[in-house]
Amino acid sequence: MKLGIVGLPNVGKSTLFNAITNAGAESANYPFCTIDPNVGVVAVPDVRLSWLSDFYKPKKTTPAVIEFVDIAGLVKGASKGEGLGNKFLANIRETAAIVHVVRCFDDENVIHVEGSTDPLRDIGIIDLELIMADLEMVERRAEKAQKLLKSGDKKAAREAEVFASLRDWLNDGNSARSFDCDEDDAAIIASAELLSLKPIIYAANLDEDGFADYHSVAYYKQVEELAAREGAQVIPVCAKLEAEIAELPAEDKQEFLQDLGITESGLDRLIKASYALLGLISFLTSGEDECRAWTIKNGTKAPQAAGKIHTDFERGFIRAEVVAFEDLKTCGSMNAAKEKGLVRSEGKEYVMKDGDIVLFRFNV
Ligand code: GDP
Repeated sequence: MKLGIVGLPNVGKSTLFNAITNAGAESANYPFCTIDPNVGVVAVPDVRLSWLSDFYKPKKTTPAVIEFVDIAGLVKGASKGEGLGNKFLANIRETAAIVHVVRCFDDENVIHVEGSTDPLRDIGIIDLELIMADLEMVERRAEKAQKLLKSGDKKAAREAEVFASLRDWLNDGNSARSFDCDEDDAAIIASAELLSLKPIIYAANLDEDGFADYHSVAYYKQVEELAAREGAQVIPVCAKLEAEIAELPAEDKQEFLQDLGITESGLDRLIKASYALLGLISFLTSGEDECRAWTIKNGTKAPQAAGKIHTDFERGFIRAEVVAFEDLKTCGSMNAAKEKGLVRSEGKEYVMKDGDIVLFRFNV
């Protein structure tokens, strides 16, 4: 499950991507990760894992990771094949969600492809390319459903209707994301893998001064208002600064952030928001050998979570001993948490929660 970084040229995508690769996790430890220069693998910041690691001093600490793909070169006209348009659109299709980098800084030394800084116009340009690409797809699906219907396949009736009204919606310049429909219709639409349907985060790229006081930056506010209307999130970043921070050794990073008067880098916030956008949560395992955060889909039950560690854990699942991180932290140790009855024994139907610290019991 990768996130694609998109945006017009010269908005700061590569700079942000460099920050990601500099901060990057060692991809060799993550066999499921793609080896590709355009893909950055990065650890998901997790204070719970840091706490466990400080407590147990394990030989190894393994964070959860996510992957970002740098999708450079999306320009006006991409959907008509301008530049390498179609190739970039195909790259976006392979991602599960989108980080749209929007330029929210003025700098006469950095040419703006559209001549001036205007976040809403820029968002509109990229959106339109995604919508145009989707329109082509939706038209095809509408026609196909019509043909099936004519040849007597009644099941195609609903599909023909849904794709026809979605076509009109896109034709008016709207994203598939904002198309209002019920669950059944949403399932039909989901089968078309549309670009403008993908969940999105706006990364508002500010300069250093703007970043320090982003709430008072008009460009930022514009993006914030648009995102609010779409129910999307905006994360302020300063790509240049993020790239510098990412190069610092971990022990210097905190001090550097403190000097800036912030507790968390824009990149860390972006990574966490991206993880949530993908519908992912972490559970943790701890011990003297390894403390580790494991990625699961929100809503995963205990046996399937156990299966992330080893298929035997899922097959032979008996129960999960679970303590919420906050409870463990408050008690100070696993034993103290046990004495207080805060370590629960959970069965097969238990739905895992973010930050659960777990020991699985299983038959071999
Ligand atoms: P891309 O084409 O979207 O990948 O943009 P780049 O990352 O290559 O950035 C384009 C130019 O903008 C480069 O000269 C960067 O140094 C500059 N730039 C990127 N981020 C920032 C930022 O946060 N502040 C300022 N002032 N310049 C930036």
